[in-house]
Amino acid sequence: MITIDDWRCDLGKHLKGREFVYKQYKSINDGNDHDHCSFCTDKFSLLIDEALREGYQTLLEPFVWEGKKYESDEWVCSECFNDFKELLDLKIKDSE
Ligand SMILES: [Zn+2]
Repeated sequence: MITIDDWRCDLGKHLKGREFVYKQYKSINDGNDHDHCSFCTDKFSLLIDEALREGYQTLLEPFVWEGKKYESDEWVCSECFNDFKELLDLKIKDSE
């Protein structure tokens, strides 16, 4: 049974209550070809052989940095999503 003492929980607990969409991995930043699972840090990439190709992406959050607008997202692998969805109230959005 997974508890908040699981080592991954410290890394991902800031995602408590957030909404996710399950989809094929795609980086939202030009020049970035991979992301990491916010819990276990497994790698998402379409270019790296053993990397994950699909996962749960947070809904995009706009933010401004040095006067420019950006969006941020985070990715969670299926295993971590299922392990923590009840503990941290992770939600799935039906459609975008
Ligand atoms: Zn993970």
